[in-house]
Amino acid sequence: MPSRLKIFLWLACQNRLSTKFLLCSRNIVSNSVCSFCGHQMEDTEHILRRCPKAVSLWQSLGFSAFSAFNSSLSFVDWLKFRCFKSTGASNRMIPWPILFSFVCWGLWTNHNKSLFSPNYRPVNLADF
Ligand SMILES: [Zn+2]
Repeated sequence: MPSRLKIFLWLACQNRLSTKFLLCSRNIVSNSVCSFCGHQMEDTEHILRRCPKAVSLWQSLGFSAFSAFNSSLSFVDWLKFRCFKSTGASNRMIPWPILFSFVCWGLWTNHNKSLFSPNYRPVNLADF
């Protein structure tokens, strides 16, 4: 797994990604509302797991973000389990933990580029 991806996942587990919730808590932005769905708290979990954009992507990959098992896990446990232990999406050539990690990275980078680059057209991650 590339170092950049490992660092990203570590920051996500520590809730240290520069989400609007984190920036708001440091008085850098005035609100923490998700720019895509209007949810009140755009934190790491929201971007990677709960935002309708993320849910749609996970579902297109054959993974239900809201299955009974997944909904009972905390965000960090969900992230760790999916990155290191889980199996799934057996019809794909890429092992699920690697695919999961790259999709999280893609959700994060797509999210940021959509916010800060007006001409950016989000990549449809489900096409990979
Ligand atoms: Zn959202």
